[in-house]
Amino acid sequence: MPRMNLKVKKIKKKRKFSLIRSLLTIHFILGSIALFRTAVEYNHHLNYYNIKIEEPVKIDTYILQGESTSVLNNAYLTFQLEKTKRVWKEITGFNIEFNKIKVLKKKDWEIIESNRFGVGEIGDIVEELYEGNAVLLFVEDIEPSDCCGDFCDYSGITDSSERGAAIQFNNDYKVIMHELGHIFGLNHYLFEDNIMYKDGDVYTEDLTKPQVGKMKARIKKMNWDD
Ligand SMILES: [Zn+2]
Repeated sequence: MPRMNLKVKKIKKKRKFSLIRSLLTIHFILGSIALFRTAVEYNHHLNYYNIKIEEPVKIDTYILQGESTSVLNNAYLTFQLEKTKRVWKEITGFNIEFNKIKVLKKKDWEIIESNRFGVGEIGDIVEELYEGNAVLLFVEDIEPSDCCGDFCDYSGITDSSERGAAIQFNNDYKVIMHELGHIFGLNHYLFEDNIMYKDGDVYTEDLTKPQVGKMKARIKKMNWDD
């Protein structure tokens, strides 16, 4: 009898082991595929790093004011836009140009509503104002409709069509650069030393070569319009 028990135990152990092994194998295969895809994408985007963008990329710029919106310090915004232009050129090698700021007024524009994916009022306004150039909206406040934890405070948000973004008045050029990155097709970056890091308070003024390549490829085809 004791011998039989031992056999049963052995078989059970073997099964458990092979299940873990299969899971590990699947995990390994999926991980390898993801890594391979990232490497292919990295190389693909890197190929575009050296292409030249001759003309400055134009961006239509608006200040949205509601009935009781506090007066925006125009000098502050002009300073931040100038700084954005300068730093952008330094890290990407191509120029952006902000078209003359237009001030638009509507009764309930103190707070622009959007969910964290840029779906909501912001999308409607971008859609209305879009004329072929990227659209930047400076607003007093952005209210997330799907507020949860870290996502409760938006300094800026890109519209889901990636044609435009809304940015709160009181932010600096780094937030403008981050949202422009989204408009030009960039996703969030995992590490802090990058303008596309998810948290605007800590990111630094840098982009990788494949990130710059990806934006250039998109701008060259002008396909953020699609
Ligand atoms: Zn972002």
